Amino acid sequence: MKKALVCGAGGFIGGHLVKKLKNEGYWVRGVDIKEHEFCESAADEFVVLDLREPANCERALLVDEGPFDEVYQLAADMGGMGFIHSAECEIMRNSALVNVHMVHYAATSGAKRYFFSSSACVYRDMTTDEPELSEEEAYPAMPDNEYGWEKLYAERMAMAYGRKFGMEVRIARFQNCYGPEGTWTGGREKAPAALSRKISLADEPGTIEVWGDGTAMRAYTFIEDMVAGIYMLMQSDHAEPTNIGRREYVSVDELVQTIAEVAGKPVNIEHIDGPVGVKARNFLNDKIHELGWESKFSLKDGMSRTYPWVKAQAEAQKNAE
Ligand code: NAD
Repeated sequence: MKKALVCGAGGFIGGHLVKKLKNEGYWVRGVDIKEHEFCESAADEFVVLDLREPANCERALLVDEGPFDEVYQLAADMGGMGFIHSAECEIMRNSALVNVHMVHYAATSGAKRYFFSSSACVYRDMTTDEPELSEEEAYPAMPDNEYGWEKLYAERMAMAYGRKFGMEVRIARFQNCYGPEGTWTGGREKAPAALSRKISLADEPGTIEVWGDGTAMRAYTFIEDMVAGIYMLMQSDHAEPTNIGRREYVSVDELVQTIAEVAGKPVNIEHIDGPVGVKARNFLNDKIHELGWESKFSLKDGMSRTYPWVKAQAEAQKNAE
């Protein structure tokens, strides 16, 4: 039986990835600085560890009949645009410490494969009608935020360790990912969850506040598609960073309309000042498609599975107040 370590298993994508690896027949250890907030972890073993500490990275990698066949590094101090712009130092310090130590101890423990979760935030700001960027066009680098710079450094570090220690390294640059069992309130939530919460709590007919002028263009990938892509990439021989995302671009206002449709609840939008991020980010997904990956969930399909979950959380919290 293959053994996998999932760092960040108490988080959104890591939690879903553990379920996927269990379905694929792995023995899985999950590690996170906290327990999963929304479900019991499907991991065979779940250990609470602060991976900024080198000794904890060593401990996470220590396993009977080791080393680990696969290490998935998804632990990061992270959140949506509001968090990315207000917690630059925390992101640059905490995520860098986790990445620096995890890759070192994974390589020196003899782990065979190492996956690193990078982000579309490594790309520069774009205009809406620009052609999509390939992975190589992340350079010359000009990420729009510090989160993106930290990801680029961690990518390079993972590749350097791969070269020196003969560890197979796979790097995915994720597009915005959404789905049930992700952060939906508290300041770290991303747009699909935040807007679902606002719509679920809005009066009927109601108005919700949206950061920016609503024209920024984005694409969103449903969690089931994302974990399928992560697994496919990890099993592949694609050693270079690889984008994973669905090619369905919508403006922020169109995202609101899609969620409102799914909710069956028309809403008015009041645009207010707030951190929006880049104007557009269009990137090519040819490499992941070459592996046979296809996104199965349209934005509407994915939101139909996400909105009811966020609504249930928001209503439960409201009733508890
Ligand atoms: P998340 O915040 O739900 O999960 C990250 C997990 O890392 C959290 O559970 C957190 O507790 C854990 N963590 C943070 N600091 C830690 C530490 N010191 N020690 C141990 N665990 C620690 O975020 P997510 O959406 O699941 O993202 C997973 C990865 O994917 C991250 O690296 C993120 O940057 C990347 N990513 C996510 C998206 C997205 O849209 N969700 C997009 C691009 C990249």
